[in-house]
Amino acid sequence: MVIVIKSNTDIKRIEEIAKDIEKKGVKTKLTIGENKTIIGLIGDTKRVSKDYIMSNLEVEDILKVESPYKLVSRMMKEEDSIIEIKGVRIGAKDQVIVMAGPCSVESREQIIDIAKEVKKQGANILRGGAFKPRTSPYSFQGLKEEGLKYLKEASNLTNMPMVTELMSVDDLEVVSKYADIIQIGARNMQNFALLKAVGKTNKPVLLKRGMSATIEEFLMAAEYIMSQGNENVILCERGIRTFETYLRNTLDLAVVPAIKELSHLPIIIDPSHATGRWNMVEPLSKAAVAIGADGLMIEVHNDPKNALSDGAQSLKYKNFSNLMKSINKIKEII
Ligand code: PEP
Ligand code: MN
Repeated sequence: MVIVIKSNTDIKRIEEIAKDIEKKGVKTKLTIGENKTIIGLIGDTKRVSKDYIMSNLEVEDILKVESPYKLVSRMMKEEDSIIEIKGVRIGAKDQVIVMAGPCSVESREQIIDIAKEVKKQGANILRGGAFKPRTSPYSFQGLKEEGLKYLKEASNLTNMPMVTELMSVDDLEVVSKYADIIQIGARNMQNFALLKAVGKTNKPVLLKRGMSATIEEFLMAAEYIMSQGNENVILCERGIRTFETYLRNTLDLAVVPAIKELSHLPIIIDPSHATGRWNMVEPLSKAAVAIGADGLMIEVHNDPKNALSDGAQSLKYKNFSNLMKSINKIKEII
């Protein structure tokens, strides 16, 4: 339920109303927007009668939030959320934030070399996996803390914040120590214990859409994080499973306008995991920028042929440079 407050109401009075409502056993969330100030009610809202709410003269209207997700909903917050990380603003109007780097951190030299190159080409955030979710237990599983240290060094050297995946609650402490953004991978999108754990931190979270998740399930996963107090959630579409098997996944680009309609959270596109093929990455990146995605996540490698993971979808430096040039052209047109 959303309570719309009349404009020019004193903030102290609004807080008083919210406090009173909380006494009925529901949680409230105050959002002071440019056009509207609202009190969002979360929990068993049947406990608070409409008459009781309307008895406050400052209340203009009461709206019912029909969706199961509340905090992530556009109804709760009209304005786009902007997640700021060391000066990089994700979700700001007309900005496309590029997160780039290898699938896995393989060595200190590798990650530093890639970080310098992607920075030179205009990337804003460094990506790299140190804890890798691999289909086979015999595949490279990542360098773990050693990898995190190299990533941090590369991130400091290039002055780019860094994002890396957390796979288990057990590693939350060590990953939080190094990461600027914690990535929750597609395979863990509905690992509710993990979502709650990152929700209790104040680190920005990059939440990837599960490979079989509906948009509603995707937003409910974000709601789990926000319900624990962490409002810094960035959504990422990385392709879903459909009947189509030609590419690794099917990139659901429609998710961008859909999320923009339903939620205030930023959404970025990962065309690398969505297609599994390096030559599909640039055209889909252009499309993502054209439809208003807030950013891109791109896998880049110094030697894709010998990469320890996802070489087939990783861009060589020259191709990443071309991608940056072409998305800049699309940005200009827009
Ligand atoms: C990744 O970004 O390294 C990754 C494993 O992605 P996803 O969870 O989307 O498969
Ligand atoms: Mn990968």
